[in-house]
Amino acid sequence: MHDLAARLLPSPLQVETLTLEDHGLTLDVKVPTPTAPCPTCAQSATRVHSDDRRTLADLPWATLPVRLSLQVRRFFCDTPSCRRQTFTERVPTVARPYAHTTTRASQAQCDTGLVLGGAAGPAGQPPNRAAPRPWLPARAGTSATRDRH
Ligand SMILES: [Zn+2]
Repeated sequence: MHDLAARLLPSPLQVETLTLEDHGLTLDVKVPTPTAPCPTCAQSATRVHSDDRRTLADLPWATLPVRLSLQVRRFFCDTPSCRRQTFTERVPTVARPYAHTTTRASQAQCDTGLVLGGAAGPAGQPPNRAAPRPWLPARAGTSATRDRH
């Protein structure tokens, strides 16, 4: 299952745990590499200062909403000439800094908006010849009170 999860996720994320809840799937993920480049001096840092988690909405798996709980580490930059003492690792293939949605999920939302072109609305009325569908829950006042102009 974890192999499958790894294939469905943006590189280089690795799945630690996978939790199925009523409202969707939460994946605890991390970057498996032991180092991260300092954004100021570009040297690889190895000393971890602390870690934290970022929650990111990702693309759904079929109809299941997916949330990534991404471990982000804060590293010490040990380059003597660098003015930055610590930095938070960045995962540009997954999400922009401070984003709450993965890059691919925001891209998909954007594409969907373009395809729908603002034409999406409530589902159309069923054709009149359709047989009554008693298994559908009754919706109070849908046809009787609708204003038809
Ligand atoms: Zn540095």
